[in-house]
Amino acid sequence: EQFPLRVDDLRVDFATRQGTVSAVDGVSFQVERGHVLAIVGESGSGKSVTSRACLGLIDDNATTRGSILVEGQDMLALTERERNKLRGQRISMVFQDALAALNPFATVGRQVADAYRVHHPSANRKQAHARAVEALAAVGVPEPAQRAAQFPHEFSGGMRQRVMIAMAIVNEPAVLIADEPTTALDVTVQAQVLQVLDELRERMGMAMVLVTHDLGVVAQIADEVAVMYCGHFVEKGTVFDIFDRPSHPYTLGLLNSTPDPEADGKRLKAIPGVPASGSSRPSGCPFHPRCAYQPEVGERCLVERPELGERPGSEQHRAACHLGPERKLP
Ligand code: SF4
Ligand code: MG
Repeated sequence: EQFPLRVDDLRVDFATRQGTVSAVDGVSFQVERGHVLAIVGESGSGKSVTSRACLGLIDDNATTRGSILVEGQDMLALTERERNKLRGQRISMVFQDALAALNPFATVGRQVADAYRVHHPSANRKQAHARAVEALAAVGVPEPAQRAAQFPHEFSGGMRQRVMIAMAIVNEPAVLIADEPTTALDVTVQAQVLQVLDELRERMGMAMVLVTHDLGVVAQIADEVAVMYCGHFVEKGTVFDIFDRPSHPYTLGLLNSTPDPEADGKRLKAIPGVPASGSSRPSGCPFHPRCAYQPEVGERCLVERPELGERPGSEQHRAACHLGPERKLP
């Protein structure tokens, strides 16, 4: 079976004055049609680099290895011209900051229509405009025909994000990458935008990758979850695996640091220690300087990097920790 998106052993290194910094270090995953994979982690974990790489967006000072297959075509092996044909057409992206991404001087209808015409050069203006209005309707912009004539500043934050999503889906891509799509929005609007993404996924059968630091967002929309730390996936599984039987101490820390909406005003428990980055990666298990379970395992954590290994009870559940499969975390 061909997956809409399949990533194998992705590695992204950056050349810096301090030497080579490894931002993504051997990441593999695939997303089925109509499924949502959430990649969760703190900032600097490599999740945004991973999501940009999926679109073939690689910085000049970066070296990339591995493969990123979009409907079987390897983004990393294509020419820039070929990548441009796929981007916005078979694979699209929604960013956090809609205001920065939209042109303030063009109507939103024009901008969505342009996103369509790039990949449908034979469409005339009228056809492209009609398609844009349809896309705005699909993302829940009320009175889309009228609002198409307005400019971005006439839209609220949540409505602007819907416009961004309309641009991303106007060509009905097979894969949608959403990097912190709701982080800039307040909680109510955030839930509405997630609802829109969820409906589109279902209606269009898109495969989605959702990059976020927010486990609340994950719980609302994801099917599968990959927890990323220091350029690696340290745990992977279904939403149920990750929330109900976390098997990596870092995942447990993320769950404990998520604010409980019931316990209002209570401070969340932070994971102690500073997140490691690619340039200062600890030896052995990259999480060891922050891990409360390290003493239980001992020296091995400091010298040997754990591989993603199977966990009991679920076929998809994997964790990279020397504690081993039978050790239950509280
Ligand atoms: Fe903690 Fe060791 Fe597991 Fe790393 S391998 S998460 S240091 S117990
Ligand atoms: Mg980021």
